[in-house]
Amino acid sequence: MTDPRRASHPAIPGLPDASGLTSTPHVVVVGGGIAGLAAATGLVERGVTVDVVEREDYLGGRVGGWTERSGDGAELPMNRGFHAFFRQYYNLRNLLRRIDSGLGMLIAVEDYPLVDGQGRRDTFAGLPRTPPLNAIAFALRSPTFRLRDLVRLNARAAAPLAAVSVPDIYQRLDHLDADGFLRAINFPSAARHLAFEVFSRSFFAEPGALSAAELATMFHIYFLGSSEGLIFDVANANFDVALWNPLRQYLESRGAKFHTGVSVNQVTTEPRLRVHCDSGVDFECDGMVLATDVAGLQRIVEASAGLGDDAWRARIAAMGTAPPFVVARLWLDRPVNADRAPFLGTGGRPPLDNVSVLERYEKEAAGWSRRTGGSVVELHSYAVTAPAEDLGDRMLARLHELYPEIRDAKIVDERVLTRDDCPRFAPGDHAARPTVTTPHPAVALAGDGIRIDLPVALMERAATTGWAAANRLLAHYGLAGHVLHTVPVQGRSGALRRLAQLDRRPVR
Ligand SMILES: Cc1cc2nc3c(=O)[nH]c(=O)nc-3n(C[C@H](O)[C@H](O)[C@H](O)COP(=O)(O)OP(=O)(O)OC[C@H]3O[C@@H](n4cnc5c(N)ncnc54)[C@H](O)[C@@H]3O)c2cc1C
Repeated sequence: MTDPRRASHPAIPGLPDASGLTSTPHVVVVGGGIAGLAAATGLVERGVTVDVVEREDYLGGRVGGWTERSGDGAELPMNRGFHAFFRQYYNLRNLLRRIDSGLGMLIAVEDYPLVDGQGRRDTFAGLPRTPPLNAIAFALRSPTFRLRDLVRLNARAAAPLAAVSVPDIYQRLDHLDADGFLRAINFPSAARHLAFEVFSRSFFAEPGALSAAELATMFHIYFLGSSEGLIFDVANANFDVALWNPLRQYLESRGAKFHTGVSVNQVTTEPRLRVHCDSGVDFECDGMVLATDVAGLQRIVEASAGLGDDAWRARIAAMGTAPPFVVARLWLDRPVNADRAPFLGTGGRPPLDNVSVLERYEKEAAGWSRRTGGSVVELHSYAVTAPAEDLGDRMLARLHELYPEIRDAKIVDERVLTRDDCPRFAPGDHAARPTVTTPHPAVALAGDGIRIDLPVALMERAATTGWAAANRLLAHYGLAGHVLHTVPVQGRSGALRRLAQLDRRPVR
């Protein structure tokens, strides 16, 4: 939290603890991903009784980790895939500070190069952190920007990029797709294909299927709106070990109960709120946070006829899920070259989106690498709209193209996950996106697919909506909420904000 212009969002005042109430509220949190765990933390810290119900056997959701066994019985730590913990993820970091105030479980990745199909590289190392110097320095040294490209930029149309405020940016740009918007502002095509494609695909969508408003918001959070920098941290061990087992212990020490491997089927509201699980166990409660992925929320709401009103139920039904993505983890019998980065983003090399070398940062992989002399490498492929049998071979061929030293490496073990549980952020999605608040005063929503009118995305949107869901219920019980923090809520440059305000003709 080094940006002096970061924003603080005060909490609603109330009693410091539920012991001051006539009875202690009992809340069920459905979903044990970041959003559910943030909500559970916000509630137990005010003395609320909390049960967390999670469908999988592990916590963390899409940032979950667990251990598998190889054929010879050796442990193979596995997780849902590489995650970058940016410095501007204030609310997520405050959650993790509950287990270590110094955030010792995170280590810095000093650089993450991006490489395109023609071998051009962008890098984030050594950039100034203060906007707009960071963007100017990045553009000047990037091989994908030329001076004449910058001169050709359509400044009027590009102004909203530097003047983002939420939710105004959605009114201005949500009807456009990111690719069309970047074309409309004459954004250099090589840069579009490298930096922007990599970022838009981090939302699991092709640039043509991503809302331009989401792209602009992302640009604001990570680049033009924040001086925290673009360098990120990673977990120093598998996610269960570094993050979720310690957080679970912290919550259990405050009385929270966890029910993993249990799926919620239905919610009834009369005479009291009741959560019905596939284990046959029901929970009667005073409040509920639904913190599942989109499909999970849709199934629960569909099966719970008495929950919400028609308009709200229609908004839940209209939510979309992004196309599937593939995470492949390979244990190789020889190492990649010593100078390979922990994380490499790729553009124009379909179907590969990034490569990470796990022994550079993850304790378990480092141990395996030391013992065997091999490397643990992870490949991601997003927006897999046409899954094909040869996808794995094509990802591997791209890996060999980039890291030829492992062309003949033997794959000692591999694990491949194909999932489709990320929310869709398509043009036009924002207006109907459900918010943390629901028609029921004691039911709140949380998750990275839930709307909150603050500049947050991905894991930080999950954490922020989780805290906000806790705050919603705490206010309902008369208990004090938790302060939230974000990057500045509007573009930093007054001149650019005025320029963007001068001309509010819609960009087409
Ligand atoms: C491969 C990959 C890489 C990513 N990289 C990054 C990154 O680098 N940086 C970043 O910021 N973000 C990244 N993300 C996005 C990030 O993972 C998500 O934004 C975040 O984890 C979402 O958290 P959540 O709590 O909203 O949802 P989830 O993590 O999906 O949690 C929802 C939970 O609800 C549970 N559930 C569903 N239905 C039920 C039910 N009926 N009963 C009980 N439980 C249920 C699910 O099992 C799940 O555990 C990445 C995502 C993926 C998939």
